[in-house]
Amino acid sequence: MTSEFQIIRRHFARPARTAALGIGDDAALVRPRAGRVLAVTTDMLLEGRHFFRGADAESLGHKALAVNLSDLAAMGADPRWALLSIALPKADERWLAAFSRGFFRLARRFGTELIGGDTTRGSLAISITAIGEVPEKLALRRDAARAGDDVWLSSATGEAALGLAHLKGRVKLSGKSRSDCLARLHAPEPRVKLGRALRGLARSAIDVSDGLLADLGHIAEASGVAAELRWEDLPRAKAIAECGNAALAKACLLSGGDDYELVFTAPRPKRSRIEALGASRIGAIVKGRPAVRVRDARGRAVPAPRAGFDHFA
Ligand code: ADP
Ligand code: MG
Repeated sequence: MTSEFQIIRRHFARPARTAALGIGDDAALVRPRAGRVLAVTTDMLLEGRHFFRGADAESLGHKALAVNLSDLAAMGADPRWALLSIALPKADERWLAAFSRGFFRLARRFGTELIGGDTTRGSLAISITAIGEVPEKLALRRDAARAGDDVWLSSATGEAALGLAHLKGRVKLSGKSRSDCLARLHAPEPRVKLGRALRGLARSAIDVSDGLLADLGHIAEASGVAAELRWEDLPRAKAIAECGNAALAKACLLSGGDDYELVFTAPRPKRSRIEALGASRIGAIVKGRPAVRVRDARGRAVPAPRAGFDHFA
């Protein structure tokens, strides 16, 4: 029988590089760099709720970390450390090796060190806590948008949700559309570099995990402003443009979750510098009660599909 400690030693413990004390004691010890505050976030993935039973272990290792690094990116923080709590129905060596491969490949790319966690038997569940650093005044908060700001999006939304619709049999994708959407769903790329580059440029930011309208709505609420989006200016992935189901494409674009793009606001004088980072300008922040509206080029309201994914709906 494999013990909890063998699992940790074989699959997760690595020598500490940047932590003052890493895995193996009651708690890890970390030291933030001078002048930085810690950005701390946690996200849980449950089998049957956030991923299908039998999901690929390597993708899960990637995605469980990616969704947390995305939260750090949305704060403009540099990832530094992570904690991994995992419940496993059994000690499956091949599963664990694949999971840890996916986890560490992404961790290495973004300089994230695993410094602790918890391992227990139970229905498959993964909870990761990620810790990053950011100069306090430059953190990209949800409550800092102002009337007059532009609204920006890092890249097209909707492919992850379209991939999920494909898996659920609601649409049939093939070729590159299919592989693009499934890659987006299973192996999202956290926009860490962009988040960091937006320090001092963007005023507020959030990552799109629950849908563009829902997540931008959180910025509007927290900042006490309204957002107006231009329908024609929303970037569209090829798979969305060509999926042959306009209603579904629209729902994915506006309300599809799991893309992990960044939506952010910035003052107008920063336009050229943000354009140079490859983001798309999709609208503006205006005075008024918190809301997100979408209008077409002729000024007509584009009716929004049902708001984003609510875990308790
Ligand atoms: P404790 O009983 O003090 O909570 P544990 O026996 O749970 O300690 O864990 C032993 C050490 O291994 C701790 O340093 C803990 O942070 C680490 N650890 C446990 N599970 C994991 C994991 N899945 N990934 C990384 N580190 C882990
Ligand atoms: Mg423990």
